[in-house]
Amino acid sequence: MKRKILLDEEELPRSWYNVLPDLPKPLPPPIDPETREPIKPEKLEAIFPKELIRQEMSDERWIPIPDEVREIYRLWRPTPLFRALGLERALKTPARIYYKYEGASPPGSHKPNTAVAQAYYNLKEGIERLTTETGAGQWGSALAFGTNLFGLKCTVYMVRVSYEQKPYRGAMMRLWNADVTPSPSDRTEYGRRLLELDPDNPGSLGIAISEAIEDAVTHENTNYSLGSVLNHVLLHQTVQGLEAKKQLESIGEYPDVVIGCVGGGSSFAGLSYPFYYDKVTGKAEKDVRFVATEPTACPTLTKGIYTYDFGDTASMTPLLKMYTLGSDFTPPPIHAGGLRYHGDAPTLCLLVKEGIYEARAYDQVSVFDAGALFARTEGYVPAPETNHAIKAVIDEAIEAKKEGKEKVILFNFTGHGLLDMQAYISYVEGKLKPWYYPEEKVMESIKRLREKLPWVEQLPY
Ligand SMILES: *Cc1c(COP(=O)(O)O)cnc(C)c1O
Repeated sequence: MKRKILLDEEELPRSWYNVLPDLPKPLPPPIDPETREPIKPEKLEAIFPKELIRQEMSDERWIPIPDEVREIYRLWRPTPLFRALGLERALKTPARIYYKYEGASPPGSHKPNTAVAQAYYNLKEGIERLTTETGAGQWGSALAFGTNLFGLKCTVYMVRVSYEQKPYRGAMMRLWNADVTPSPSDRTEYGRRLLELDPDNPGSLGIAISEAIEDAVTHENTNYSLGSVLNHVLLHQTVQGLEAKKQLESIGEYPDVVIGCVGGGSSFAGLSYPFYYDKVTGKAEKDVRFVATEPTACPTLTKGIYTYDFGDTASMTPLLKMYTLGSDFTPPPIHAGGLRYHGDAPTLCLLVKEGIYEARAYDQVSVFDAGALFARTEGYVPAPETNHAIKAVIDEAIEAKKEGKEKVILFNFTGHGLLDMQAYISYVEGKLKPWYYPEEKVMESIKRLREKLPWVEQLPY
C-alpha cells in the first residue's frame, strides 16, 4: 500500500482545464457598472494582459501551459499525493483518505500555480510591474516569488493588521524583491482618503484591492494581479486536480468525495474541476460528490446572497454574480486570513446554486481541533485555511465508519502552517473564539448595495 504517490516531472500536465464550456448554465457575465452591460474586454486591458482576458472568457476546454511556466512549476510540481494512513487509523475509519500536498511550493501554498502564470503573461506583453493586495500574506508572497523569477517588479498592498501582526510573510516578499506597503496607505487617493477619516484604519482585503487597482490604472506599464475568484486564476489551479487524477489512477483509486476550503474558491476549483469534468462528460467511475468548506465567521456560500456585487470595497471592479456577504463586509478577526473574502468565484457559486456542489461552514475552534489531530497523526502542520477542509474530511470519515462503508476521500492540503504558529499558540492556550457572522449584517449590507444599484435586479442574468 503506497503512502506517497509521486509522478515524474514529464507527467506534469501540458494543459489546464477550463470549466466554462462544461457549466450546467451559461455563466452570468461580469457587468460594467457604468454601462450596465457585460463588460467589454478592452476595458479590462487597463489592468490585465490580453492573454489573461482571453482565458477569462475562453470557451476552449484545454489551454496549453507555456513551456516557460512548466519549467518553473517543475521546481516543486508534480506535488505528492499522500495517503493519510495515520489519520485513518486514529479515526478507525474504513475510508481511504488522500491529500494533495500543495505546501511543497517555495511560498508554501497552491497560490504560485497562478502567480507564475500571471507573471509570465504580463512579461510577454511588456508589463514591468504588477500590483496586488494580500491579507495574511500568502498571495503577496506567491506573486513576489513569481514576478521575481521573471524579473518583474511587484508592489503589494498588505492589509494593515496583518502587516503588523505577521512580519514573516512581509520579510519573505521583500526577500523576493517585492515592495510591501501596509494598506490603507498614502500611495493612493483612496488610501489617503481613508487615512484622513481614520488614521488607525485596520484595513481589509476589499480596501487593499481598491488601492492595488488604483495604482495599476494610474501608472504606465503596470498591471494588477488577482490571486483568486477570477476564471483564469481557477484555470491555472487545475494542475492540482489533473495531477491528482493521474496519481489516483496509478493506484486504481477514484474519489467518492472531493473536499476543499474556500476563500475565493481557486484551490478547491483547481482540485475538483477535473473530477467535475469526468462527471459531466460521463467519464467518472463513481457519482463523485464535491464539498466546499468555509468559516462561520465569513460564511459566503452558506449564508451569502446570490447576486451581482463588486469585488472590492471602493466599487472599482466590474460586478460579478456570486454569493456575497456584501462588498463593505468587515471580517471578524479569525486566523484563517485566506478565507476572509466577501465573495467567491462565480463558477463555483453557480455550481453551489445549482446544487451540484455542497457547502459547509465551521467555527474556528472545531477547525483547529481537526488541524491539530491531523498534525499529530500525519506530522504536517496545516495552514489554518486547510484546517476547514480537514474538519469536513474527518466528519466524512466518521460517517463512513458509522455506516460501515468504504469511501475514498480526496482533499487538497492547500498550504503548510509553519508561518501561522501564532494561531496555533492561541489554539493551544485556549484563546480561540468560535466566531459566527450574523445574518442581519449580510442583509444590511445587501440592502445598501441595492440602494446604490437598484437596476441590478432587472439584469437578465
Ligand atoms: C489563500 C489560501 C486559501 C484560500 O484561497 P482560495 O482561492 O479559495 O483557494 C486556502 N488555503 C491557503 C493555504 C491559502 O493560502
